[in-house]
Amino acid sequence: MNYIAAIGLEVHVQLKTRSKMFCACPNAYGAPPNTHTCPTCLGLPGALPAMNEEALRMTVLTGLMLDCDIADVSKFDRKNYFYPDLAKNYQISQYDAPLCTNGRVPLHDVAYPQDAQTAIATSGKTVNLVRIHLEEDVAKSFHFETTTGIDFNRAGTPLMEIVSQPEIASPDEAFAYLTSLKQILICGGISDADMEKGQLRCDCNVSVRAATQAELGAKVEIKNMNSISGVRRALRFEIERQIALLESGATIQQETRGWNDDAGETFLMRSKESAHDYRYFPDPDLLPIATHALLADVRARVPELPAAKRMRFVEQYGVSGYDAGVLTHDLAVAAYFERAAEHSPKPKSVANWILNDLQSALSAAGISVGDCPIPPEALEELVGLIDAGRISGKQAKEVFAEMFETSRPAGVIVKERGLEQVSDVAAIEALCDNAIAANPKPAADYRAGNAASLNFLTGQVMKLSKGKANPQIVTEILTRKLKE
Ligand SMILES: [Zn+2]
Repeated sequence: MNYIAAIGLEVHVQLKTRSKMFCACPNAYGAPPNTHTCPTCLGLPGALPAMNEEALRMTVLTGLMLDCDIADVSKFDRKNYFYPDLAKNYQISQYDAPLCTNGRVPLHDVAYPQDAQTAIATSGKTVNLVRIHLEEDVAKSFHFETTTGIDFNRAGTPLMEIVSQPEIASPDEAFAYLTSLKQILICGGISDADMEKGQLRCDCNVSVRAATQAELGAKVEIKNMNSISGVRRALRFEIERQIALLESGATIQQETRGWNDDAGETFLMRSKESAHDYRYFPDPDLLPIATHALLADVRARVPELPAAKRMRFVEQYGVSGYDAGVLTHDLAVAAYFERAAEHSPKPKSVANWILNDLQSALSAAGISVGDCPIPPEALEELVGLIDAGRISGKQAKEVFAEMFETSRPAGVIVKERGLEQVSDVAAIEALCDNAIAANPKPAADYRAGNAASLNFLTGQVMKLSKGKANPQIVTEILTRKLKE
């Protein structure tokens, strides 16, 4: 029997605003507990919320980047439930009038896990969205040995929820979805989307059914995933678990599970969950939002998206589609490439240096491109020296290593080390004459049709030049002279 999985992801994104969603407290990570609070975000009676316009703009901007429909009028609702980290006993969220509906996330091949990039089931796939809404985050609980502490610094910070259709077909696609989405969010300046800091959090819905069955199977939710590779592993485990159950003739129950990353297993949290009744109602303290004024502002802020940047790199710089994908995967790398390639007659060579030597030097040194000791203009200079035939490819590697070590310009290193190739034709002609005169037999052999003798003679000229002659020019001159 064949089985199909249907995966839907709910992604929570912390917005990079300066202040919280409904008060002026700073929205910052890492401050001592309960130092960023006020009556509003502590939920004290009588405190009134005031909307953070920038959070609204960022959500609408996300909607525009993901091709969503933006509501003309949206509103905030109260979602009622009790929880220790929710002081008001309700969360301000959006129920039936979210800011954005529909939309899509295009998956790029480079966004798949590296070990899965050669076996992508649906290249160029797009995953449709249900909605994007805005809400306030809750406080954070810390469980100690015998007590629990609650930090309200996070309470009331703006949180955007992006809900996908259950169209993701595999753990690899879920990985590509999250990576592609994260890239777009970073590109728009919406969030740093660092999962380890909780800036991007994800719940996964997954159901498995027989390939012959049309309707979706029972939905199992895996809560609170905090890494993209963890999502992939949890989904792999969960799909296997559900298939084994179906194979044994059991039925799958709708339930909520957690993920134990160390054990590599999902575990049951709550079973037979009935639909919650949160008694949503419009928040009487907050007026509905008319989006037309926001939209004019936000349209001007839509950046060049990763897909458009990839296409432009292919057209403008002549790099391959794959290389464009790798170069644009990280915005900082893309910016570095553009600065180095901007005035270079060989942008493709610049790309190769970045993708090979530079990336491996950076990862060996454990630093990001932002801290790269070689400025982009210096890399352009190095490529220029090779292109002009002033140094060989092999010499360039030595120069590159020293540039990375010392941050000094290529031209200076080449001079100091006396590396410069001799490309002066007159000088090389003289050396060729000497080599031919000193080796009459190989010269005669070449004239008689033994092509290999040319390599010997080239070697002799290189030796005479102490390795500095441009080998390409040597070969050209020797060939011409031997035909005379
Ligand atoms: Zn506050």
